Amino acid sequence: MNMVGRKLKSWWEIGFVAVLVLAILSCTILEKDGFRFPRAESTTEAGYPTPLSGHPITLTPVILKTDDDSVRIYPEFYVPGDESLGSDEMRITVLGSGGPAPVRRAQAASGYLVELGNGDNFIFDIGPGTAGNLYSMGVHPALLDKVFIAHLHLDHVGGIFPLFDAMGWARNTPLHVWGSSGSSPELGIKAFTENVRKAAEWHVQSKQNLLPTGGTVIVPHEVDVSLFSPENPRQLVYDENGVQIFAFPVVHTIDGSMGYRLEWNGLSFAYTADSEPSVFEAEQSQGVDVFIHEVFPSPEEFAALTKMPLEHAENALGEHTLPDELGVVFSIAKPGIGIGSHFTLGDALIDSAFASIKTTYDGPVALAHDLTVINVTPEQIVLRQAKTDLLAEVPEAPDLEGVDMNPGLPSESVRPDWLTETRIQH
Ligand SMILES: [Zn+2]
Ligand SMILES: [Zn+2]
Repeated sequence: MNMVGRKLKSWWEIGFVAVLVLAILSCTILEKDGFRFPRAESTTEAGYPTPLSGHPITLTPVILKTDDDSVRIYPEFYVPGDESLGSDEMRITVLGSGGPAPVRRAQAASGYLVELGNGDNFIFDIGPGTAGNLYSMGVHPALLDKVFIAHLHLDHVGGIFPLFDAMGWARNTPLHVWGSSGSSPELGIKAFTENVRKAAEWHVQSKQNLLPTGGTVIVPHEVDVSLFSPENPRQLVYDENGVQIFAFPVVHTIDGSMGYRLEWNGLSFAYTADSEPSVFEAEQSQGVDVFIHEVFPSPEEFAALTKMPLEHAENALGEHTLPDELGVVFSIAKPGIGIGSHFTLGDALIDSAFASIKTTYDGPVALAHDLTVINVTPEQIVLRQAKTDLLAEVPEAPDLEGVDMNPGLPSESVRPDWLTETRIQH
């Protein structure tokens, strides 16, 4: 009797503690749920923050660049609209950290937003799923008109339609898109943007008499890749308002894949998208504050993840960079922080990737996650996760001078009268 009584008491105690723990966990989860952190704070076995736990996946979220310890202290999370960007500051946001297969709810494909303290904004790649993250960042679409495409794989450009579709309701000026010439015209950014515009013909004609038409234009800026050589390793492709952006070739599938390096106000950012590890890209990215480079798991892990035969996984990964190879690239480039991206996140994969990177690199390193935000100043580099509203509204429109807000002429395509006459009048 006594034994049974004791047992019952201990089960009751266990139940009470379990309910208490669940209550605490669910409070944490509920508090964050509207901001896309559905997991409670937790770490992997090796101690890295888990995906969706609200923290960037790194053990070095703050990197001091000077001995001055009177640096700016940031709130725990970046909340768009709550923080102004310093006039000497750069903010990089991961819009899509995922790999090519498949796009996941919590990992869009490739895309990065770079905001500068001078008011300029740049987008690097616009892969599938990135637009929702982009529009949750509190930047009006009228100010998002400069896109730099690393290469024309669809996981890097497949999200261009939602960006183009800001026409009329938000962006009423042309969308400027930089990219490579490819080795022949049909493989270049000019052909790509012309085809995007052609594919949107019905869309444009259906709205051209209703909304301003200035946003229906895409202006390509083609980088002639035939000009690259060991003697001419990079080309200045953008030079305005104190911002310089250089393009350089990278080793990835056929001719025409590029990386970019942005320099402004003594701060710098390099992005090489997809590439096999090469000394060349490491040298072109040397000494930048933030270097974002792809990284893939091992062929065995990738085969298990994608359910593809190991042989196919090995073929695919031949065009990419493994974690220990990423470490070699970072050890040559020596960035303020090296960030591996394009990586399908998972707790076990995170630990094995960092373990492998560590065999070749001992500097600050992170794995990108959607909405990881990196603030860069002359004094420090700080990584956090953004809390963006799942129901974010469009911010106030900026005043843009000289923008023609007049709608155009109607399309000649008219639906039949009989169909229009069925409209319910009340
Ligand atoms: Zn690619
Ligand atoms: Zn890719």
